[in-house]
Amino acid sequence: MTELADAHDEELVHVSDTHRLYRLTPWLVRALVPARRVGSYLLYSPAAPPYVGRSDVCLRRRLLRHAYSRRAEFFSFNTHWSQVHAYTMECAVFHALRPQLSNLIHPDAPDHLKIHCPFCRDQWALPRLSRPLGHPIERFVPNPRSNP
Ligand SMILES: [Zn+2]
Repeated sequence: MTELADAHDEELVHVSDTHRLYRLTPWLVRALVPARRVGSYLLYSPAAPPYVGRSDVCLRRRLLRHAYSRRAEFFSFNTHWSQVHAYTMECAVFHALRPQLSNLIHPDAPDHLKIHCPFCRDQWALPRLSRPLGHPIERFVPNPRSNP
């Protein structure tokens, strides 16, 4: 019976990945967000800029905290299979919506993981500069070393 419950719980994780907006209330967070899952989220309020965040331990607990503090009126969320995926998603949203977000500081990577944001310009430069000249990517990205 426990195995069936676990399998059903796994299905709920897939179903719960969504980009819909839900009202940020404790009962709805408990109803929609699985417990003890890594995840990323967006908080919305009509009168305030959106906020992007993530939880590396329990997305439900993080969203409940926001619901009880009435930080926003609506939320959307995604569960992820790893902290790396959650961090990457948070960074993607941060860079895509940066002018509109209330987040002032770039998302911080989990302490125990040595990863960097794949969307920061300085991270793009590292692999490009390590490639030999003439690589196909050079056709699309100007090489600062080729300018006189
Ligand atoms: Zn970045």
